[in-house]
Order: sequence, then structure tokens, then C-alpha cells
Amino acid sequence: MDSVRPTSDSQWNALQAGAVPAVEEVRPGIHAIALDMPGMQPPYAYSYAILAGGGSRAVHIIDAGLDTDENWVAFGDALAALGRELTDIETVTITHLHFDHTGLANRIREASGATVRMHTAEAAAIAEGLQFSAGHDVGDMLGKWGVPEESRAALLAIATSRADFGSVVIVDEEATDGEILDFGSYRATVIHTPGHTTGHICLALEGEAAVFTGDHVLPLINPGIALGGRLTADPLGEYYDSLERLAPYADAEALPGHGFRFASLGARCAQIRAHHEARTAQAAQVLAAEPDLAVWDLASRLTWTGGWEALPIVSRVSALAQTDMHLARVRKAAPAR
Ligand SMILES: [Zn+2]
Ligand SMILES: [Zn+2]
Repeated sequence: MDSVRPTSDSQWNALQAGAVPAVEEVRPGIHAIALDMPGMQPPYAYSYAILAGGGSRAVHIIDAGLDTDENWVAFGDALAALGRELTDIETVTITHLHFDHTGLANRIREASGATVRMHTAEAAAIAEGLQFSAGHDVGDMLGKWGVPEESRAALLAIATSRADFGSVVIVDEEATDGEILDFGSYRATVIHTPGHTTGHICLALEGEAAVFTGDHVLPLINPGIALGGRLTADPLGEYYDSLERLAPYADAEALPGHGFRFASLGARCAQIRAHHEARTAQAAQVLAAEPDLAVWDLASRLTWTGGWEALPIVSRVSALAQTDMHLARVRKAAPAR
């Protein structure tokens, strides 16, 4: 915990109180607008509004929260309080394809004609119809993971009966790694950070020691990995490389997709990596004794908060997917006997 230091009392206090944080100016002309995610965990997502400044009314948005009527009103009210209107929005840049980040983008685009921008890999996944899938067919995976017959139906039902995701986001422009985005008084560099999803991006604010981290690096949660886009062979390795890509910003403040803003980014990256490595090491230890364990059996032998048996069924599909990743990592490091 020592390496995650909140840099906003107001965001931190709201989280402790179970409230949605008030709109906060995080840099001159850059405002964090927390948008509610009722009944979900995490409970809200940040959309950031950058006012172009220099006499321009233009507004640039980073991430667009969850698509609800209440959020649409709250978002409009927040802009009005900043002296801007929906029609002033010129661009919406989205860190990744999850519905709690793309949410209001279509409505904003409709209202303002704003250009919606995402990474090329994310745009490709969306075009393939993968926005609301984890990149694998859970029905197929249950067999591969060795889930016992009697547990399959319940897991499959959970995996296929998800919340209302909203509409598929329309992408106008593809962002690429290293590209510099012009937000008026600010410029930001696109950093491709695959792992959480394959086309996830972070945005480093030029000269400000601040990085919009989306869900790549979060303050309290260890971000799930391989949760969207086309799956690759070693998502965990890819995720580590993406943590490494933020090394030049180790001392920067993180402006994340959820939770609260914090310092220092590098320390948090190290902490998250250590968590996953410990997990892989634990899997390796179990597998050393029982090399042929299926993912289901391996998962039940790993440490889970409250124990595997108590893990809610909604969390099990994701737990199995994460276990599968560690298994892949162990087998990669030490190929079968
Ligand atoms: Zn996400
Ligand atoms: Zn998110």
C-alpha cells in the first residue's frame, strides 16, 4: 500500500465514503468527471475533459464512462459548469474498448460531430464484433480448463448473461503508438499498452508528469489481463512489457480510469508486477508436484481472498482465465518433462 499515494483528497475521501467524486480540476483546464456505475465494481469511471484554452471553446474528452441516461445528464451538467456545451467537444479519445470507457461516446459524437479515436488494434477488434467479448468463447474454454460437468452450466449462464453493455462504439480515427495528439494547450503522446485489452493505450501529457492510464494501471485493483480484443499467446508477458513501457514516466502522477489519482506510477507498476509474479510462482510450485493439473484444479489450489470455494460464481470465469495465463507462463518457462 505504501507505494500508492493518493494525490487527491477529494477523490480519496469520496471513495472511502462510497460516493461518486465531485468534478475536480487535475491540471489547469483538465477536469476529472467521475461517472457512476451503479451496482458495479469498481463503482465509477473517470472521463477527463480538456479545455483547449487560448480563446478556443473546444473540448477534448478522454474516456466516456458508462452509457446511462443519468450519466449523460451528469456529463452535460459538468460541461455546463465549466462554461462549455456538448457541441464544443471536438475529439473523444478512448483508452480501450470496455463499455465503462466507451459508454457515452456515441451520444457525444451524435450531439457534437466529435471525432472518436481508439487504437488500431481496438478498432480492429470492434470491427470483428469483439467489443463485448473477452476474446475467447467461454463454452469452448470450460472443456479446456477441465471444469467438471456439473459446474459448467452455471458458469456458462453467468458468462453469457451479462449486464446491458450499451451500443457498439463507432470509431472515426485510429490512434497509433508514439502519435502526438493535439489538445490545444496540451499535447499527449499515445503509448500502446496491450495486456488488459490488446489495443489499450495510455496517454502521457507532455511536460506535465501525468499519464492517463485507463485500466492499464489502477490504484487499488490489479487490472485483469486479456479481457478484450484478439487473444495472444502470452498476454501476461505482453502486459509486463506494457508496464515497462511506462518506465520513462515512473515519477509521474497517474490519472486512472477508476479509483483516485495517485503517485508514483513506477512504484505502482512494480507492485502490480510483483503481485502477478508471486501468483505465477505459486502456480509453478503447485505444478512442480502435479504437472498435469487442469486449470480448474490448479485454480482450486491457488490462494484466493476468502478461499476458492467461497469465490462467487461470477468471479470464477475470470479467475479461471487468469489461472490459465499463469499456467501458460509456467509451461513456457519450463516446457513439459
Ligand atoms: Zn477495462
Ligand atoms: Zn474500466
